[in-house]
This record gives sequence, structure tokens and C-alpha cells, in this order.
Amino acid sequence: MRRALRLAIAAFFIAGVIAYAWVRVQKLKGTFGNSATPMLNAQLSGDPGAVRWLKGQLHVHSANSGDSKTAPEQVAKWYAQHGYDFIVFTDHNHITSLPPVDGMLALPGVEITQNLDTCEPPPPQGMQCLLHVNALFVDPSREVELKPLKSAAREDVYGRAIDAAKEMGGIAQVNHPNFHYGADAALLVKLAARGARLVEIANEAVDSNNEGDASHPSTEALWDAALDAGARLYGTATDDAHHYYDADEVRAKGETAFTGDRGFVMVHARKTPQDIREAIERGEFYASTGLVLSGAGHDGGYTVERGMLGRTTITGPEGRAWTQPRFSP
Ligand SMILES: [Zn+2]
Ligand SMILES: [Zn+2]
Repeated sequence: MRRALRLAIAAFFIAGVIAYAWVRVQKLKGTFGNSATPMLNAQLSGDPGAVRWLKGQLHVHSANSGDSKTAPEQVAKWYAQHGYDFIVFTDHNHITSLPPVDGMLALPGVEITQNLDTCEPPPPQGMQCLLHVNALFVDPSREVELKPLKSAAREDVYGRAIDAAKEMGGIAQVNHPNFHYGADAALLVKLAARGARLVEIANEAVDSNNEGDASHPSTEALWDAALDAGARLYGTATDDAHHYYDADEVRAKGETAFTGDRGFVMVHARKTPQDIREAIERGEFYASTGLVLSGAGHDGGYTVERGMLGRTTITGPEGRAWTQPRFSP
């Protein structure tokens, strides 16, 4: 049964930039149980305070990835300076975590990165099988190897990463489904059944093809189709950043900088690793590429508070518009 209402905020103009945000509010009753990692609560940052909206990042790289030159401590400092309450490190095939930095939680995760020349079905011409899964909130003491591949089927390649994420006590997120067109809607349905809980709707790296092309739907359309097919997947927005204080230096060399604070989640929780993780598992968060709501909630009904500019569309099953309220500044 689908109880979700999805709020798709289309074509917001904020400081001259078109921003999209997605909000999902779901009322779930302990569906996922408690698979949390006790280890997470070892990392507390002072008094967690009351439940509030916390700004978080679910996809971020450091020098432990090999394709970023910024040390994890500096990455964390950059996000703390940009007002984040928590980040989850997702270095390529490497679990990174740190003690809190300037009051911001820096939590353990890993981007399980499988780059193959081919897979089934094969990639579009000129592309590869770059099938990436984030394992978020993992227990570093439970690091596992990927199981041997049973086949080159995309479902198996992604599937063994989802299995590994779960074995490490993490939440599995299917990353950038339109990057080299890694996953279509039918595959997302299968991966949700295998245990993936999140999918990146707005991976803000410059090459993630969120909008799709003439023959591939947008990531938002993929998510719609997967939800309509009965999958339980929450949409996220992320940075997938690799460059921080060095962004200008990278641009000066004529290279593309993959920068941060472009896509993020706002999670309704106390500021402890355990509470944040459980709130995400319950879907008590929204994803945004810039817009921050003054509040959102649900209690049998649905409310969105003031603070939004432009037109807001709340979509229901099969992508049908449910209502289009207007909010004033
Ligand atoms: Zn990736
Ligand atoms: Zn990445």
C-alpha cells in the first residue's frame, strides 16, 4: 500500500538558479524494524538537543577516494562551514569516518564502486557499466568483501553491493541511476526488493544526467515509475563532491570542479547518528537542491508551512497532480 505524498517543487528560481526539490512524507509504522548500528552512537556531538530539521549530505568524497585531493578533515571542515549538521563519507571502496568536526557529525559510509566495461543489458554506445551503491551509516568494524559475481546482469552487480551494504549494517542507496544510464525503473523496482532504500534523484555532479535524454527518462520519472510499480524507495539529493577549497584551482586549469552544497537532505531528528539514521529509514526527511522549508510534517494529513516561493505541486499515485497550492514569500 502506498501512503506517500510526494511534493515536487518545480522550477523555483532562487538567486537566478533553477532549483528542484523533492519532498516525500510517509507515514510508516515500524515497517523496517530497527537494524541500526550500535556503533553509531559512539559518535555523539555534545547535547543532541530536541528533534529538529538537520541538514545532511549523503554522498561526499575525500582524498581516500583517489580522485579527490582534499583530506577528510578538510572536507568535514568545509561542510561544517556551510552549515551542515552531518555528512556521511562515501569514498570509493573505502570506509571513512571522523570524530565530530566543529560540532558536525562526520559518519562512516562507502561508495561501493563497480566499474565494468560491459554488463547485461549492455551500456549505450560509448558508455560503461558504472554501477555505484552507497552504503550509508555502516559499522567500520564490519567491512566485507563483495561476493563473487553470479552473472554480468546489472541486477546481480548492483545486488551484491546492496547485500554488502546490509552486511555492514548500512542503508543502501542506488546512486546516480542516469550516469551512463546504470539503472532503469524496472531495475530500481528489483533493487528495492533486494533491500535498497534510497535512490539519488538529484545527484548534483555535473555529469549525472538527471534530466535524461531523448531516449531515457529523467531520474524523477524513473522514481515515479518505480513507486507506481510498488517499490519503496526514498528519493535523495546529493553533491557527489570531489573538490572543496581547491575548486578554483581546478577550474583555473580548465578542468571541471565537482563542488559541494548543491544537493542535500533535511532530516527530522535529534542530532545523534542513531536518530538521524532511523529518521532516514522512516522517510522523515526531504531532499532539496537549494530550497529549505520552514517546516513540513504529517499526522494522518499533510501540512507544509510557509517559506516557499513559486508554485508547488504535490503529486500522488501515477504522478497525478494532487493539488497545487501557492505559497507566498
Ligand atoms: Zn558514483
Ligand atoms: Zn561518488
